This record gives sequence, C-alpha cells and structure tokens, in this order.
Amino acid sequence: MEITNRFLLSGDNITRLSCPKNKIKFKAGLPDTIVIHYTAGRSAESSASYLARDDVGASAHIVIGREGEIYQLVPFDTIAWHAGKSAYGGRTMLNQYAIGIELDNAGVLTKIGNEYQAWFGAKYQADDVMYATHRNETSPRYWHTYTEKQIDVCSEVCRLLIEKFSVKTIVGHEEIAPGRKQDPGPAFPLDQFREQLLLKNETDEPNLMDAQGEVTASLLNIRAGAGISFEKIAKPLVAGTKVTVLEEREGWFRVQTVVEGWVSKSHITIK
Ligand SMILES: [Zn+2]
Repeated sequence: MEITNRFLLSGDNITRLSCPKNKIKFKAGLPDTIVIHYTAGRSAESSASYLARDDVGASAHIVIGREGEIYQLVPFDTIAWHAGKSAYGGRTMLNQYAIGIELDNAGVLTKIGNEYQAWFGAKYQADDVMYATHRNETSPRYWHTYTEKQIDVCSEVCRLLIEKFSVKTIVGHEEIAPGRKQDPGPAFPLDQFREQLLLKNETDEPNLMDAQGEVTASLLNIRAGAGISFEKIAKPLVAGTKVTVLEEREGWFRVQTVVEGWVSKSHITIK
C-alpha cells in the first residue's frame, strides 16, 4: 500500500468514492493529526456511501471494513467533516488539522438474551463483543470488537500518513469530544496503537535513560565526549563492567560506572 497523489493506492481492496461536498484544502503543514472513529454502522460499504452523500453533513477520509477493505472518500489534502465540535491540545475544531479514519464497528451493544444488539437492530454474538469500561465512563458496557485485520490495516494506513504528512498526534474521537462522542471506544487499543506508531522513531533508538548495560568489548575506552577525538578520562572499562546509560548521542552513550563518560554504544549491551 502507498499514498500517491493524495490517495491510497494498492493492488486491491481499496475502493475510491466521490465525495464532492469536501473541497477545502488543509493549510500548509497540515494535516498533522489522525482522529480514529467507529462508524456505528451496519457495514463499511453502507457507512462509506452514507458519508459520501451530498446531503449528509459528515464525512471522513477513509472507512476501513472488517476484512481490511478500504473506502477512500476524501483526498488526504482536503478537509473532511468527522470531528465536529472538538478540542484537543489547545486547538478547537479539529477537522482543519486532522485526517479522519472510520472503522466499521457497531459501537455500543445491548445484551438481549444471548445476543448483543446494535442501535440499528443488527445482532452480534458473544465472540464479537467485549465488556469493558470506556475511558470517559465509570462502569462497563458491551462493545463490538474490531477485527485484527482491521486494526492491522488501520495501523498500516496511519504509518503511511505519519510518513507523508509528519503526523504527530493520533487521537480518538472520544478524546477530542468527550461526553459527546464514545468512538472508537475501549475495544480499540488506542493507547498501544499510537504508542507503537508515534514512538517508532524513538523505538529505533529507544529512550535508554537509566538503562542498565554491560560492556561487551574486552577493553572499552571511556572519553570526555561523544567521539574518538575526546580525551580518555580513565583506564578502559573491561568486559562485563556494569554501566548505567545516561544519554545517547550519535552512536555514543554517556554512561556512569565508577566514572562517568562517553563510550561507543556498539560495545554496550542493554540488560
Ligand atoms: Zn467519530
């Protein structure tokens, strides 16, 4: 999958719908945010065609179905209408900042006998339901679960958007319009999801503050700065020396042991 010319491209599984009501482009440097939603609808196809309608005052950039199928309604450089009255991080009216991703999901369900019913009447079996407390609520309710495929595809799309637009923030609709909105709800692993995606650069070079490491080289020079041009400040550290990593810079660690100084990070294993 890739984003070319404002649209998702892929060999298959992507349907483009026309949504001519959305015409206004994002300002320069935007979008920088992704808002995750659920459709509270019957199917991805029905939700996507509804949101694309000219007489409907809502839309989203994409709708992701339960098999991972994608409908794109609005190009990524154009503002869609998914957030409504909203506020987050000192901003209001998030549509002007954010890509909207809708996931096909029935939302809150009501238990009736052994089945679970959505507001629109469809019934779901226990396998597709979780009982959980929403982050904005205090007691548990029944929620339609998401499929693994759907979350994987959502993650892949977000990864592409992060690369393309330098997205810094992923939020749930429930976080930008608390009280008014409940989506994507507790069935969506929002915290882990954004942590994995947005900290990716840092996971490549993880935050090693206070990590415990051990010298692997037989003798490892410890220096006054991050580079071989800096003077050695003590006798070399021997293999097996335990160190605390304080800082990382361009292939070097500032470590603390009996002395404190810089060592080449490739000779330290983190415990
Ligand atoms: Zn929403």
